Amino acid sequence: MHRDLPYLRAYPEALQEQVRTLLRDGANGLAPMLQRKYPQAHAVRTDKALYHYTTELKNRHLRNADAVNKVLFDSKIHVVRNALGLHTSISRVQGGKLAAKHEIRVAAMFKQVPDEFLRMIVVHELAHLREREHNKAFYQLCAYMEPNYHQYEFDVRLYLTHLEGAGARLWAAA
Ligand SMILES: [Zn+2]
Repeated sequence: MHRDLPYLRAYPEALQEQVRTLLRDGANGLAPMLQRKYPQAHAVRTDKALYHYTTELKNRHLRNADAVNKVLFDSKIHVVRNALGLHTSISRVQGGKLAAKHEIRVAAMFKQVPDEFLRMIVVHELAHLREREHNKAFYQLCAYMEPNYHQYEFDVRLYLTHLEGAGARLWAAA
């Protein structure tokens, strides 16, 4: 059976084939591999904590970009295909000036993942402060903020693939 892997379509076929093998491997497969690699969940529990987490990353790497006004976990974002998070900018005229309000929404499934996965999605949404499209400059900015960005995005997609195959959540809250 040649199982379709919607979260991994952008990756080379040979890599997808390795993932299919891992998925069939049960005890030696994908889930144990992810858990060995990332044993611990992060401790960001609330929207307020997520806001601080995001602002800290932003201040460290993108000090001159617009401020982020609001950051939250959103249970209405169904992680389908490409939408892992959402970044919205609303431009409003304030005191005769055009001011942009930036809001970042992170899919609620990121509440129960390792820190590396949360960092990946936050870095991704922060990079959209500068680059709207997923172009080369965008991914360079992601890799500047988190040098392992591409590895983490791949591993997030592996985890989503595991969940889509009716796999259990691996970092459920204690
Ligand atoms: Zn994006």
